[in-house]
Amino acid sequence: MTDTNSEQIANQIEALRAQLDQYNHEYYVLDQPSVPDAEYDRLFRELQTLEAAYPELGSDTSPTQRVGAPPSGAFREVEHEVPMLSLDNAFDADEMAAFVRRVSDRAGVAAEALRWCAEPKLDGLAVSLLYEHGKLVRGATRGDGYRGEDITANVKTIRAIPLHLRGDFPDRLEVRGEVFMSRVGFERMNEQALAAGEKIFANPRNAAAGSLRQLDSRVTAKRPLQFYAYAMGTVQPERQLDDDSHYQRLLQLREWGFPVCPEIAQLDHSDACFDYYTQIGEKRDYLPYEIDGVVFKLDAVDLQEQLGFVSRAPRWAIAFKFPAQEQLTWLRDVDFQV
Ligand code: NAD
Repeated sequence: MTDTNSEQIANQIEALRAQLDQYNHEYYVLDQPSVPDAEYDRLFRELQTLEAAYPELGSDTSPTQRVGAPPSGAFREVEHEVPMLSLDNAFDADEMAAFVRRVSDRAGVAAEALRWCAEPKLDGLAVSLLYEHGKLVRGATRGDGYRGEDITANVKTIRAIPLHLRGDFPDRLEVRGEVFMSRVGFERMNEQALAAGEKIFANPRNAAAGSLRQLDSRVTAKRPLQFYAYAMGTVQPERQLDDDSHYQRLLQLREWGFPVCPEIAQLDHSDACFDYYTQIGEKRDYLPYEIDGVVFKLDAVDLQEQLGFVSRAPRWAIAFKFPAQEQLTWLRDVDFQV
């Protein structure tokens, strides 16, 4: 590579980082994205590809190394005991197949023999809920994955989030899941806002994020927010759960009083992932909430631990996204951003 060439590439990388930092800020801190997700994803991939080709130009502070944005400063800061990371994406069947091969190689288990837990990828925002002696003591946003915002007063207003656990629960339990708004709730809320001459929200994700990060929890309480649990963080004492399976743990969360998406499935064969993806894709428009893909997680928790994490995402899970259909609706919605 000539000097001019390498300078050009370094500049291109810097420009992409600056652009993505700006988009992240708009999306996570201001809740006001200025470009469709597909465009963000395209630039993110471009940066990942360049950084992989030129590792000498890598940087710890590149957007590819981070989950989202640091807390905005208005709420008290919370440190996550177990980092709340993001998910890698697959945008087509080849990428999904490559992911399965990678997992199979790393785990030393034939692809056909891998068991998966499949969950629709809800389009809302991640929260962490901490329970001590069965009582909800803290709710937090994901933030940059290591530090989030304390939104306890706000999560307590969400009817689907239990304030007390049921049954035989651990002393200390952290539950993770997605806060989202149903399509009906979103439409109703926008109708009311229009009637009152207020600004309306661009989409349910944006509405959920805006509602959850209100400094006045009385405002949050009026918003039709819902919650589905999708993972456990800290569990103390580390009790012997019935089964070392992510799917079974989700069922366990249901017993402790959390709503879990009814569409989740345990799949015994990697090929079944593609069928599940197709079936959910066909149902997508009829589901009461918006989803933008399917999350496949290796079901065996010991294999998850063996595979671990890399930079911003676990190696044992992937978000297999649906093709972007948002560009047009997004352009239509652009005037409505709040
Ligand atoms: P992501 O949305 O691709 O996936 C991770 C998130 O998925 C988790 O944090 C969780 O909130 C959610 N999720 C939903 N269901 C889940 C389940 N069953 N299990 C686990 N997690 C589940 O990643 P991200 O880091 O939240 O956001 C990145 C995406 O956000 C980008 O791919 C882009 O589409 C969008 N984005 C857009 C802009 C923009 O300017 N338009 C800017 C930043 C990010």
